[in-house]
Amino acid sequence: LSSVVIVGAGQAGFQVAASLRQGGFAGRISLVGDEPGLPYQRPPLSKAYLLGKIKAENLVFRPAAFFDQQQIELIQDKAVIIDRQNQRVVLESEKALEYDHLVLATGAHNRPLSIPGEHLEGVFGIKTLADADALAPRAKNAKNVVVIGCGFIGLEFAAVAAAQGASVQVIDRGDRLMARAISPQMSELFLKAHESWGVKFHFSQAVDQIMGKDGKAVGVEKVNGDVIPADLVVYGIGVIPNITLATEAGLEIENGIKVDADLLTNDSHISAIGDVACFPCVHNHGEHTRIESVPNAMDQARAVSARLLGKAAPFVATPWFWTDQGNLKLQIVGLSTGYDSTVTLGSMESNQFSVLCFRRDHLVAVESCNRPGDHLAGKKLLSRPPELTQREAKEPDFDLKAWEV
Ligand code: FAD
Repeated sequence: LSSVVIVGAGQAGFQVAASLRQGGFAGRISLVGDEPGLPYQRPPLSKAYLLGKIKAENLVFRPAAFFDQQQIELIQDKAVIIDRQNQRVVLESEKALEYDHLVLATGAHNRPLSIPGEHLEGVFGIKTLADADALAPRAKNAKNVVVIGCGFIGLEFAAVAAAQGASVQVIDRGDRLMARAISPQMSELFLKAHESWGVKFHFSQAVDQIMGKDGKAVGVEKVNGDVIPADLVVYGIGVIPNITLATEAGLEIENGIKVDADLLTNDSHISAIGDVACFPCVHNHGEHTRIESVPNAMDQARAVSARLLGKAAPFVATPWFWTDQGNLKLQIVGLSTGYDSTVTLGSMESNQFSVLCFRRDHLVAVESCNRPGDHLAGKKLLSRPPELTQREAKEPDFDLKAWEV
C-alpha cells in the first residue's frame, strides 16, 4: 500500500490521516476537504464557541505545521468523481489523485426545513465554523429566538440563547426532548432544566412557514396558525449523509454508504467511516446503523487505519455520546433502542441522575447526567464482548464465528 486518499477533512478524515502516520505508514496521504482552513472540531460550534468560551484557533485539531511535518497533503478542493476502475479521485479543480486505498469520510449535511421562508435572513442551521461565525453575533443580540427541533443541537443552542438573555421557544413534532436518543426519564429532567432557564416548548407541532419582512425573519407560523415572533430562527431537524459521490460511483447505499464489519464498502479498495457510514453494529443487534458522533468517527478512523497497517479486526467499539446544555452534561454509552426496562440512580431534583437501560435483562445503555462515574462504569460494562442470546443463535443466517470478537 503506497497511497491513501481520504475524502472529507472533518473529524473522521483527519483522524485516519493522523493515525496512519502514528502507526508508521510511510506512503502518500492526501486529505481532501472542501471547507476553508485547517480541519476543526464541530461540537463547540453549538455551545462554548457561541458563548465566546473557546476561540476559533482552538477548534483546529492541529496547527498547519503538523501537516507539513507529518507529510499529510491537505488539499482544499471538492472530490467530484471516483473513477473506481482506474483507482483515481477527480477533484473540482480537475486535478486527479490516484489511490491504492480510498477512505470516504464525507460526513452529513443538515436536513433542510423545506418550508416557505427557510432562506430568509436570520434563519440558521449549525454545521460549519462559517455557520457559527455568522450566528454568534446574532445570538448575542437576539430578543426572540425560535428553535425548530429539540434534538441535541437545537437544545444546546436553546440553552446558549437563554443564557444570553433571549426569550426562547422550541417547536418539535415529537412529544419530548431528544426522543430519538434518550429515555423519557432523562427527557423529563432536561425539560425541567430548560424550563427553569426560561425556555418554552411547543410539542407535537409542526411549522408551516417562517414569516419575513424586508427579507428578514420576523416570526414562525405553526400549522395551527399561531405565529411566534422571532428575530432569530435556528433549526436542527437531523442530518442527511453526503452520499452523492459514492452513489455516482455505484457503491452500495443504505441510509448512508453501506459498509461491512471491517468498514469496507462493496469495493475492497474503498472504506467509509464517520457520519456517512452505515455499518453492522454489534451493539444494535447487528443491524446496519449510522452513528453521528465524535467518538464513532474517531473509533472508525482508528479501525480503518489499523486495517490498512495490517491489523484488521471487525469494528465493535461501544458507541457513546455527550451533550452540554447549561450546567448539565449528559453522557450516553450504548444504544438504548429496543430496551424494555430501566433502573434509575441518583435524583432528578439534584440534576445528578442516571438511567440504566436493559433489554431482556441485559444492560444495553447508560445515560448519565452530571454523574461521570456512572458513565465510565457503563463504558467498561458495555465494552465487554456482546453476550450471545438464544434469539440471535436461532437466526437463519447465524454465524458463530462472528461472535468470537
Ligand atoms: P464531518 O466532521 O462533518 O466532516 C466531513 C467533511 O467532509 C466536511 O468538512 C465536508 O465539508 C467534507 N466533504 C463532504 N463531501 C466532500 C467532497 N466531495 N469533497 C471534499 N470534502 C467533502 N458529536 C458528539 O459526539 N458530541 C457533540 O457534542 C457534538 N456536537 C455537535 C455540534 C454541532 C454543531 C455539529 C454540527 C455536530 C456535533 N457533533 C457532536 C457531531 C460530530 O461533530 C460529527 O459526528 C463528526 O464531526 C462526524 O465526523 P465526520 O468526519 O464523519 O464528518
